[in-house]
Amino acid sequence: MAEATVLDATPRYRRVVLKISGEGFCHRGERGIAMDAVLPLAQQIHRASRFQVQIAIVLGGGNILRGAQFKAGNTAIREATAHYMGMLATVINGLALQDALESLGCDTRLLTAIRMDGVAEPYIRRRASRHLEKGRIVLLAGGTGSPFVTTDTAAAQRALELEADVLLKATRVDGIYSDDPEKNPHAVLYSELTYDDVRRQNLRVMDFESVTKCQQYNLPILVFNFKKADHIERAVRGERVGTWVSRGCQ
Ligand code: UDP
Repeated sequence: MAEATVLDATPRYRRVVLKISGEGFCHRGERGIAMDAVLPLAQQIHRASRFQVQIAIVLGGGNILRGAQFKAGNTAIREATAHYMGMLATVINGLALQDALESLGCDTRLLTAIRMDGVAEPYIRRRASRHLEKGRIVLLAGGTGSPFVTTDTAAAQRALELEADVLLKATRVDGIYSDDPEKNPHAVLYSELTYDDVRRQNLRVMDFESVTKCQQYNLPILVFNFKKADHIERAVRGERVGTWVSRGCQ
């Protein structure tokens, strides 16, 4: 693999977990995978990989399928089965992103929480850590491997076990707002919040469980807009380009 040029001798973070939802893999209002959406994403990640920060990416799958769509009673597919289908969807996204990154010369490894030996390596914490130390971009698919949770929970879980410095949650909006900015033009964008603010005000940007987990272990979260040209790079470099969620007083 071609070595990326290394920039910035003193990055703010040693290791980050970047959560990319399935919406990053398709165009707004569409589903499935559009490689002309995946490639710009990969280009940003490629540029971000030059800053000597170890990057693990947790993949969402909502562009293909979310388990909750198949609530009990609605269909012959059991909800638990549907969640497993959702986890498999994240692997499909992982394969697409891996090829896009490799087409740019990035060294990557795709690891899955559900074993799929012909397709990817199994997720083993120590192995993931070793890949990161070697400068590989590690793609984490399959969520937690268990149904009834989302990939936000998987992202918090992996960030904690891989001892990341921050969880970077890439979304289509600029950060956390007081209300849905796509419906309410007066919604206010917050630059900083505490975990309690997010939970008390029920600010819906990550699921409750994942915020609780981050709070429990004091892992900061940055919610930012990956559609803005250089925001993944800036977030990885330590810039607070969206809403910073922490215990406060930092
Ligand atoms: N999923 C699951 N367990 C996990 C992670 C994901 O069952 O640990 C399923 C769940 O049904 C979820 C789907 O996989 O809806 C796709 O993930 P998610 O909805 O989090 O994707 P995103 O919204 O980030 O695109």
